[in-house]
Amino acid sequence: MSEYVEKETTKAIVCDSLELYTSEYDILCDAIDNIPPADVVPVVYSEWMENENFDDGFWTCSACGFVSEADAAPYLYRYCPHCGAKMQAEG
Ligand SMILES: [Zn+2]
Repeated sequence: MSEYVEKETTKAIVCDSLELYTSEYDILCDAIDNIPPADVVPVVYSEWMENENFDDGFWTCSACGFVSEADAAPYLYRYCPHCGAKMQAEG
């Protein structure tokens, strides 16, 4: 299974755990910067909010404003059907 990390986080953790001369730090950071990026899309998180402009049972995606008429939207959709944001579980 692949795992993905952010380069800046990697640099901070690696460099904080070693005592490096500035030149060594620069070489390490350059090496990390030169790692080819993976084709990964960051996860966008959202949540269903009860829509107060409509009757009960309308829900709005907090990320894109999409309004779902499905009364059970928070239970039906783990991802927004419009923008694809990952819905946070309540509680
Ligand atoms: Zn959305």
